[in-house]
Amino acid sequence: MSNSTSTPTAPLAPSSSASTSTSQADEIAELRAMLAAANARLSGLQQQGAITTTAAATTTGTAAAAAAAAAAAAAAGGGPAGAIPLSRRPSTGLSWPSVGALERRAESREDNEARIERMAAAVRELLTCIGEDPTREGLLETPYRMAKALLFFTKGYQELPTEIMNNAIFVEDHDEMVIVKNIDVFSMCEHHMVPFIGKCAIGYIPNKKVLGLSKVARLAEIYSRRLQLQERLTKQIAVAIQESIDPQGVAVVVECSHMCMVMRGVQKSGSSTVSSSMLGVFRSDPKTREEFLTLIRDNK
Ligand SMILES: [Zn+2]
Repeated sequence: MSNSTSTPTAPLAPSSSASTSTSQADEIAELRAMLAAANARLSGLQQQGAITTTAAATTTGTAAAAAAAAAAAAAAGGGPAGAIPLSRRPSTGLSWPSVGALERRAESREDNEARIERMAAAVRELLTCIGEDPTREGLLETPYRMAKALLFFTKGYQELPTEIMNNAIFVEDHDEMVIVKNIDVFSMCEHHMVPFIGKCAIGYIPNKKVLGLSKVARLAEIYSRRLQLQERLTKQIAVAIQESIDPQGVAVVVECSHMCMVMRGVQKSGSSTVSSSMLGVFRSDPKTREEFLTLIRDNK
């Protein structure tokens, strides 16, 4: 196993792997700097008494904001903070930049293989616990398949919305509503780790800047490929767009069917959950909001 990832108790230990390629080493260094900056910021907040409990800390920022703040702090020379136990770190509500997400993103192929082995062992245990025989032929490869599938279903942890959007922001004198709808959502509820799937519609009214249309859909994908709550997913997409191009307003509507409800009989199989997040003019102006809702309803 290479040593490009850190242990949970010493997440900021410098990497010294000679075999790590330069670009990967750069990336790891950059990620460590981000994490250090985030920790430094956290220490500051803790000293100010803004964070008092292990679980209560939340921010309203997005990954974009967290990354930007971290980068700014790093640029300002924010040094590594003292080791703050995992449980004491604030949740940004985004699982980013969490130690686990950083490690996953920066890990080498060997580390990834070791991760899959660990996951497979856990799946074998699960199979045994449900009364199955993990050594029977049909299940022999299942632990590996499930491990890889899980990593794919949660690949959003390895992706930064800011990176996706940075090259796709264009200055444009356009101030009419832009809508991307019928975006597929494949996510997993964080309470049961089973899928919820459906559609997403995203609208915004630009304020001199527009976002590449495909990136709008990509943003929904990045956030849905994590363990999620539908409400949080909806909000995160809206806030990320708001912070990246500062439009006059953003509207996001997500409609999903939750397997944890459907398959357990809590919910009728045909029903779905709708959540929306309205920012700026979509919140303040009922007419604009109505126009958006009408446009996403028509010609499905
Ligand atoms: Zn659930």
